[in-house]
Amino acid sequence: MPAFSYVVIDAQGRTRRGIVEAETARQARSGLRNAGLVPVELAAADPESGAGGPRRLTEPRVARLLLPLVGADPNRPDAVSLVGRYALGVTWQDRHGSIYPFTMLRAACPCGACPPAGEAWPTEIRREPSALRVQWHDDHASAIPYVELRGRCPCAQCATTRRGTDA
Ligand SMILES: [Zn+2]
Ligand SMILES: [Zn+2]
Repeated sequence: MPAFSYVVIDAQGRTRRGIVEAETARQARSGLRNAGLVPVELAAADPESGAGGPRRLTEPRVARLLLPLVGADPNRPDAVSLVGRYALGVTWQDRHGSIYPFTMLRAACPCGACPPAGEAWPTEIRREPSALRVQWHDDHASAIPYVELRGRCPCAQCATTRRGTDA
């Protein structure tokens, strides 16, 4: 059976990654959803990929929680991927996962001259050393610093932390 490497967000808001076996990516995705997990990233597991790549495991549907990396920078993305059709998922080096609807990404544009965000469709998303570069359908380009992006993580956990700081 084909194997897929995945990154998911569990009910506690933690990012987990692992390998799931399924006939199709669609099946793998629904399997993860049924387990109460939100898939952020799913890719055919490539046994050839090197050390950092997904490892092929034999046990199916086992979410493996990795320990935080030593020296992991919470403001550096480990993986960036599309989530559905309307959002971008970022897994940070500290294994936290954030999901940003495109309209939210556009609202985070630091240019100061953005027209009020209506529709927001990225045509290109590129990782730069310290910022996420987004090219939009209206030819506007945003370079959103990762620190800023992480600070805007909309997950419940981060929102609570932010409220605590503001108080
Ligand atoms: Zn802008
Ligand atoms: Zn968060």
